[in-house]
Amino acid sequence: EAATGLDGGLVRYDASLEQRLTQRATIAADLRRALTAGEFHLLYQPIVELPGGRMLGVESLVRWRQPDGRVVSPADFIPVAEDTGLIVELGAWILDTACAQTAAWRRAYGPDALRSVAVNVSARQLLDPALPEVVAAALARHGVPAAQLTIEITETAVFTGGRALATVHALSRLGVSIALDDFGTGHSSLGLLRTCPVDIIKVDKSFVDGLGGSPQQEAIAIALTGIADTMGLRTVAEGVETAEQARRLYELGYRQAQGFHFARPMPPAEIDAMLQQAQDRAAA
Ligand code: C2E
Ligand code: MG
Ligand code: MG
Ligand code: MG
Repeated sequence: EAATGLDGGLVRYDASLEQRLTQRATIAADLRRALTAGEFHLLYQPIVELPGGRMLGVESLVRWRQPDGRVVSPADFIPVAEDTGLIVELGAWILDTACAQTAAWRRAYGPDALRSVAVNVSARQLLDPALPEVVAAALARHGVPAAQLTIEITETAVFTGGRALATVHALSRLGVSIALDDFGTGHSSLGLLRTCPVDIIKVDKSFVDGLGGSPQQEAIAIALTGIADTMGLRTVAEGVETAEQARRLYELGYRQAQGFHFARPMPPAEIDAMLQQAQDRAAA
């Protein structure tokens, strides 16, 4: 049964919480086996130019396909992988796989076909002092220039400890781009822009959702593009689902976006098809 919480909202502490805890324990036990068994794969979601929608780069997003065919969302297993520490190993596999895929795209469509490939890195990975070496090794192994890789971090992750910030600086020195993901949803987004070597701000979907509404709802999206411009940072608007949002973003000065309106996360072969089309168009 659900009970009414202090705020009047529903707090579920019953069977569903128990189920969730059981699910979490099951996931923890399964993760290591899953990594060895090759049950993870990466999807890639295009990041596009506004207003035309031309693909500039992609973000890699991990998926877990269990033996029964069920695909588990990273929102369900990344936190567990963080708790158990397996994220360090899984994260290294993700970096290597994304770099291998980037190298394959470079070979097939030329070094400039994709400006960047982004990889998400979680808080626990940033606490690992070896992360910059892991990134550098993945780039070197596949012959991918650092400039083509973007590492996406969250402000919360950077605040987990002093070492996390030092790691971000070390990553930045490698020449990879640093993107602050879900920007504006953490506690100290703006302050972080002064201490953290940031190249790209990914404006969170919650601010994109408010576009076309009241000036109050649009205020943050407007302010963020102004700050980014002043600081010489690039912005990517996340979670763009409608043509109206895309149009409004362009009007406000946004030049890069990502979201279901343009493309969903897709298997690498579908990105291949898009790159092939772009190449055919350029040759025509
Ligand atoms: P994120 O990095 O902010 O990734 C964007 C998420 O929003 C993705 O969910 C993507 O599928 C979803 N999305 C993209 N466009 C839209 C849209 O228009 N509407 C809506 N409603 N959603 C959209 P996904 O793939 O489920 O990933 C969720 C989160 O899990 C990611 O958020 C990221 O924090 C984490 N994650 C995913 N892959 C990795 C990974 O390889 N490593 C780590 N450490 N974390 C990852
Ligand atoms: Mg991301
Ligand atoms: Mg994001
Ligand atoms: Mg997000």
